Amino acid sequence: MSTEDRDEDLAARRRSDAPYRRAATQQTTGRQAPATARRARGRPEPQEASTMEMPAVNECQVEACAYNTAHSCHALAITVGNSSHAECETFFKVPSKGGDPTHTGRVGACKMADCQHNIQYECQASGIVVGYAQQDIDCLTYAPA
Ligand code: SF4
Ligand code: SF4
Repeated sequence: MSTEDRDEDLAARRRSDAPYRRAATQQTTGRQAPATARRARGRPEPQEASTMEMPAVNECQVEACAYNTAHSCHALAITVGNSSHAECETFFKVPSKGGDPTHTGRVGACKMADCQHNIQYECQASGIVVGYAQQDIDCLTYAPA
């Protein structure tokens, strides 16, 4: 057998052995591809986590707030409500602006359990408006049941 024939023969045997060698390696190392390992253990494939969309602050009249530019809120998640009214508790006043200017503010939590839009201290409105209510800075979408 020539050298070329021997090389060809060796390569062919390696190709036909490949599945057995892979299995042997997995047994030795105990390592499998994650999906293969999950299937082997009868576990389901992970699903994408679903996130509830938080209601947007469609408008906020409070330009003095650090999170406000041109009547838009840019706080990632505001908190609404205190013991007496639907105040925006995230409001604060500093010389510089904050928040994410590419992001429209959203309602992260609301303590106004008596509002028609409130379920388990989460706002379920399609969006809210924040503005002045006399001296206060309130959710103007608040609707007592
Ligand atoms: S909704 Fe609240 S946090 Fe957002 S800009 Fe208005 S006052 Fe500031
Ligand atoms: S609409 Fe009602 S539940 Fe939603 S943030 Fe305003 S007060 Fe809270």
